Amino acid sequence: MAIYKDLEKQVEIFEEELKRMQSGILRDIDSYVNSTFKTKNGKYILDEGTDLTVDMTAKLQEVLAENGYYETVNEQLFDFNQEILANRLGEFPRIAPDFATEQLDALLRANFETLSGVSANTGNNLKRLLINSLVQNESVSQLAQKFSDELEKNLINHSATLMRTSRRMYYQEIENVIAESIEDEIIWVYAGAPLQENSHQECIWALTDKPHAPYFTQSEKDEFEAGTLPAGLDRSAVRYNCQHYFQITSLTRKEYEKK
Ligand SMILES: [Zn+2]
Repeated sequence: MAIYKDLEKQVEIFEEELKRMQSGILRDIDSYVNSTFKTKNGKYILDEGTDLTVDMTAKLQEVLAENGYYETVNEQLFDFNQEILANRLGEFPRIAPDFATEQLDALLRANFETLSGVSANTGNNLKRLLINSLVQNESVSQLAQKFSDELEKNLINHSATLMRTSRRMYYQEIENVIAESIEDEIIWVYAGAPLQENSHQECIWALTDKPHAPYFTQSEKDEFEAGTLPAGLDRSAVRYNCQHYFQITSLTRKEYEKK
């Protein structure tokens, strides 16, 4: 599906921009640490006056904002989401005029909050690294390397995953909101990228093995999303990196049963 190719491309662009930002982020955190803690012979000094109540999360978020992180993410999400919503609503002309733009904004904010949670996790990890480094009397360059690794690991890898995941959650949310305006019983189709070797087990099941695959009734969809269907599969309900979601079909229950 073209929509997923587009998504992969945007995630790639995002990752590239994030890498470029990384040096700026490191430089700012470095100057923050150096202005907060004293150093001697290339090591931080931990004396009685050293204040360890450092808020790295707030600092990281501030630095990310200054380096254009939030702007970039917002841009990547917003254009794309507008397009998805417009395309999807076009298929439901009866309810399209009632669909308020505030709903889009609310969805966008929820999605964005999921993503910005990454920076809170990373901020906590940076604080832990900083304090360990002070206690263990490590050199400034050792700490810089650890900060660099941490940013790489969390911001780059984790952000791309969350970006993919939260986008998919967003598409699902659009379908769910549209579904609320439809009075008839809805039969859903589980749709998205072709299956690959590393696809989630539950996605393979939903697209191939499930009775009436890839179609779902409302209660089957609810159970699948809660992580209880198919039974006996130990899995997270979130489905990180999954590129499948439920779309509304025009099938009736009778047609579903024949599938
Ligand atoms: Zn999937």
